[in-house]
This record gives sequence, structure tokens and C-alpha cells, in this order.
Amino acid sequence: MWGGRVGALPRVGGFWLTGVLGRKPSCNAASLKGNNSPQCWNCGGSGNLIEGDGFFCPQCRALQPPDPTRDHFSLMDCNRSFRVDTAKLQHRYQQLQRLVHPDFFSQRSQTEKDFSEKHSTLVNDAYKTLLAPLSRGLYLLKLHGVEIPEGTDNKMDRQFLMEIMDINEKLAEAQTEAAMKEIECIVRAKQKELTDSVSRAFEQDDFEKAKEILTKMRYFSNVEEKIKLKKIPL
Ligand SMILES: [Zn+2]
Repeated sequence: MWGGRVGALPRVGGFWLTGVLGRKPSCNAASLKGNNSPQCWNCGGSGNLIEGDGFFCPQCRALQPPDPTRDHFSLMDCNRSFRVDTAKLQHRYQQLQRLVHPDFFSQRSQTEKDFSEKHSTLVNDAYKTLLAPLSRGLYLLKLHGVEIPEGTDNKMDRQFLMEIMDINEKLAEAQTEAAMKEIECIVRAKQKELTDSVSRAFEQDDFEKAKEILTKMRYFSNVEEKIKLKKIPL
């Protein structure tokens, strides 16, 4: 019966936690999926906490701790896919914040206040991650076990790196708003093109291709950051 709980624990320190939980069940166990009878931390009720999103105990209505095994797609009620309906995503975000926002827990116990902070942070994080194509792609890739370490340009093709250098030079030299606009347009068109390509790569389950395209998107994203910074003093 511990199999599900062990698998559900965060990877970091998982072994240590396994040992601890193996002897003495933690009150947080209520939130862990894979356990057939999660218990409410407050009333000990073993009602079906998964039902109704698992945020509240169906018996005492106490807010439950976040489920650490739940990924952003599941939390935001989206299919685990690169294509997301951003209007639906926004709607879900507002719906969740109405359930868990700390403002609604000011009169509740400290435990529930703490849980609501955690839920709220998670919801914000999930929303932001899934909203932007680059972070959504990187997250999806990570769920498939593929990560892109920072600063890996040794495999990047020369032509692409030259293109980036060229844009960076143009940006450094840009003195007028029109010149900045032009660079912004180029970068935006590139990102659109890459977003379409990475979407196709994910559809074909070609994670190596997706990784290559997302790496390029990250370069353009860095340029976008530089544009933003340069715009501040204008
Ligand atoms: Zn309860």
C-alpha cells in the first residue's frame, strides 16, 4: 500500500521521506494520489478527497494540502499537450484562485492559511508556466524526461548563432523607436514560426526536435528580454 505514496513523494529527498513515512504516516499523506483512502488532516475523514478536485474535505470542508504529484496540466484542467486553449486556461486560473486565494482564509485556521498560500503559489506558477509557449514547451519536455541545461550552445548550428549575433548587434545599435520596433517585429515573427514548429514536433512525439526548437526559442526570448530592458529609459 505504500507503493503509491512512495512514488508520489517529491524526488528530492524521496528516499529519506520514504523511510520516515514508512514508520510513521505523515498528516500530509492525505493529499497524495495513489493512496486509495486519503484522509482529511482536520477531521480524519476518509471521504473521497479526490472528488471535487480534492481541495476541500467533503465532510468538514477544511482546505487540504496541495497534491505534490499533480502536474500543472492536471491542475489547470488541460490536456498534457503543447496546444492549450489560453481562454480556458485563464478561466480555470480565475476559478482556482476563487477557491484557494489566501484572502478567503483570513478567518480560518493557520494550517488552512498555510495551505491556501501554497495552493495559490502553485496555481500562479502553473498558470504562468502554461501560458507562455517557451515555458510550456520546456515544462512539457521535462515531463517527458528531457531537460535543457542553461547555456548549451555547443551543439547549436553556426548559422543560427550568427543570426542571433546579428540581431543582438542591431539591437545594440538601435537608437530610434522605429529601429526597435523593426527588431521586435523580426523577433516576434521568428518566435511565431518556432512556436508552430515546436507544436508540430510535440504532436509527432519528436522530443529531440522539440528540444532543438525550444533551445532556439530561448535565444530569442533572451533577445526579447534585452529589448524590454532597453525600452525602459525611453
Ligand atoms: Zn475533514
